[in-house]
Amino acid sequence: MAAVDISAPDFKEAPYWWEAAPPSKAAVPALPDRAEVAIVGAGYCGLSAALELRRHGVGVLVVDAVRIGHAASSLNGGMVAGSLKVGHAELARAFGPERATALLEESARCLPFLENLLEREAIACHYRRTGRFVGAHCPSAYAGLAGRVETIKRLTSADAWLVPRQRQREEIDTDHYHGGMVAEASGALHPALYHCGLADAARRAGALVVEETPVDAITRRASGFMLRTSRGVVEAREVIVATNGYTGAVMPWLRRRLIPLGSYIIATEPLPPETARRLIPRGRMIVDTNRVLSYYRLSPDGTRVLYGGRASFRRATAREAAPRLHAMMVSVWPELARTGVTHAWTGNVAFTFDHVPHMGVHEGVHYAAGCQGSGVAMATYLGHQTALKIAGRAVAPSAFDALPFPTRPTYTGDPWFLPVVGSYYRLRDWLERRLAA
Ligand SMILES: Cc1cc2nc3c(=O)[nH]c(=O)nc-3n(C[C@H](O)[C@H](O)[C@H](O)COP(=O)(O)OP(=O)(O)OC[C@H]3O[C@@H](n4cnc5c(N)ncnc54)[C@H](O)[C@@H]3O)c2cc1C
Repeated sequence: MAAVDISAPDFKEAPYWWEAAPPSKAAVPALPDRAEVAIVGAGYCGLSAALELRRHGVGVLVVDAVRIGHAASSLNGGMVAGSLKVGHAELARAFGPERATALLEESARCLPFLENLLEREAIACHYRRTGRFVGAHCPSAYAGLAGRVETIKRLTSADAWLVPRQRQREEIDTDHYHGGMVAEASGALHPALYHCGLADAARRAGALVVEETPVDAITRRASGFMLRTSRGVVEAREVIVATNGYTGAVMPWLRRRLIPLGSYIIATEPLPPETARRLIPRGRMIVDTNRVLSYYRLSPDGTRVLYGGRASFRRATAREAAPRLHAMMVSVWPELARTGVTHAWTGNVAFTFDHVPHMGVHEGVHYAAGCQGSGVAMATYLGHQTALKIAGRAVAPSAFDALPFPTRPTYTGDPWFLPVVGSYYRLRDWLERRLAA
């Protein structure tokens, strides 16, 4: 990939979000010898579990390999999804129609759950229920959106509607798409402010959060578990692994079931306010139906375009990926061809082979992961559900709990096949767009 040549003079290879919420530099507290529950991973999932466990009086230690701010929960797009990406038919084929319905109904509860959490904990993170526009990359994709509208309306109390191409500019100032769909149950927030706010809430509730402490191994003992970390050993009665797209040797069984994938975002330099307002008139979150999808939005202050996507299926730096993202953005809005990029960054998401997030227990260790790049609400929710289960407070089992969790023979967690699969998907998207042109 060519070096970035669209960079603004103040270009940074760092998340735009760090301007308002830079990673903490506070001293790291000492690691205790034991904890009632030890949580590996201080993303939304681990911190949400910690907060809920503390609300039920359970002692909690959260350990993370890096500083809060350096992993997916601080640097994502901040787009809050209101449902799963998978349709009822696919879920029914995998899990049966009843479980499929339960999964979709429960996934629709994640957004109101997050909204209540933000309000209860007074987390100021520019949250707004914006709704989401899904642009169809070809006519058959537009036809397919009708089914999604029907499922959303049937299984949730939220509204959704099709937007034909003639009316598309009411949502986005482009002819790039062949119409689209609006899903009302969707929101936007500042992901790093949310992450900091969640960490503060967990600490206020009494959780101990120890950063810069990778956990190397978890060993089962008669009375619980032993965690070997870079700062020493901790014993714990229960363990939750909440490592998602960064899962390594700490839980090989989970690693074999997750496909880590880099996702990339750029931020443009500030646009004239009237231009930004015209590009996305209703301020909705935008995604498209490409297999290699784009997701984008305006910054919370409404001045910049934040454009994200799978710019590379190989390990590329954010600086290397920026020109491709810029080109993708210009294909939507040619007028931004000369608009510079001030920030570019990347982080890991985790996909699963059945396209569904999972929570459960393996050999006594709790896990929750695999939000398919849509974990702002879902990872928070699954952490909460895991905590309720451990605290014995779950009213009913979650539909996401203990689903069969597939892997593939010989797969160890290194997705060597992604460049091939990604290129194939990109080619299919391109062909469909060309045929429709
Ligand atoms: C660029 C990008 C854009 C995205 N955009 C969106 C979006 O717009 N909307 C949306 O809903 N989702 C989005 N996502 C996905 C979302 O960010 C994730 O689903 C969510 O943050 C997952 O939270 P988590 O707590 O499960 O994992 P993470 O936030 O990934 O946290 C896992 C933590 O585990 C730690 N860890 C791993 N191994 C160890 C170990 N051995 N010892 C100690 N700690 C360890 C890691 O350091 C990390 O901090 C995006 C992700 C990326 C990367």
